[in-house]
Amino acid sequence: MSEPMLKVRGLTKRYGEREALKALDLELRGGEFTALLGPNGAGKSTLFQVLTGLFAADEGEVEVAGHSLRHDAAGALRHIGVVFQQMALDLDLSIQRNLLFQADLQGLPRRVALERIASGCARLGVEADLNRKVRELSGGNRRKVELVRASLHHPQVLLMDEATVGLDPKSRHDLLAALNTDVRERGVAVLWATHLVEEAEQADRVVVLHQGRLVADGTPAEVTAALGQPTLEAGFIARTTRGPGGPAPARPGAVTGAT
Ligand code: ADP
Ligand code: MG
Repeated sequence: MSEPMLKVRGLTKRYGEREALKALDLELRGGEFTALLGPNGAGKSTLFQVLTGLFAADEGEVEVAGHSLRHDAAGALRHIGVVFQQMALDLDLSIQRNLLFQADLQGLPRRVALERIASGCARLGVEADLNRKVRELSGGNRRKVELVRASLHHPQVLLMDEATVGLDPKSRHDLLAALNTDVRERGVAVLWATHLVEEAEQADRVVVLHQGRLVADGTPAEVTAALGQPTLEAGFIARTTRGPGGPAPARPGAVTGAT
């Protein structure tokens, strides 16, 4: 099995007294689409904020493609692309301007940037709108532009935080299809945060986050079995409407604190 693209060890993040992440361990391999399934408040967005260097963890280590986030942040972040839960495009700039701004931040030569913007937008079907203001776009197309932006530097790890909330089924399908192509053809590791069980059911792997801890990890079928209910949805509801379990599971398919 290939080396993990992302390694998280013992990650703890506190907001004052509240522990949002509790000694979290997680590894992501290239070529795998992993759903991070957790109810509201589980710690999904906090994990993304720590993985992208927005917040420092109180304890623990993150490595991306062999680069320590603590000791070589630039090296680590070069391999990460992210779409945050809150849309972060400038509404009054065109798609092209928003994307060029990001490409400049990444230090991409202008010619490379223009090529990647054109091909990325074509792939997601927003190329006809390149010169329109983001304000004029549908929610689905805004999310597509955000995925193009997150991918401009060809990261090996893509983090998507509740990216399909509020989208129509076609936009949701297009986003997932584009990401699955990245996973299969470019060997990207995708971490897809969601509270929607039906999205997690389509992933290669599901990790269930509850109150800052991973409580199950494996294929959808393994996690369903480990949670001890007939469906993933029933298991997820049962497991995340009671208190925290012990430490994270040591093997795929394991579940913590289940009786
Ligand atoms: P999720 O994305 O899974 O809904 P979050 O990471 O947003 O979860 O939140 C995890 C926990 O941390 C929640 O209890 C939330 O209220 C708390 N929290 C999140 N952000 C902050 C913050 N900036 N300050 C204080 N508490 C926070
Ligand atoms: Mg969130």
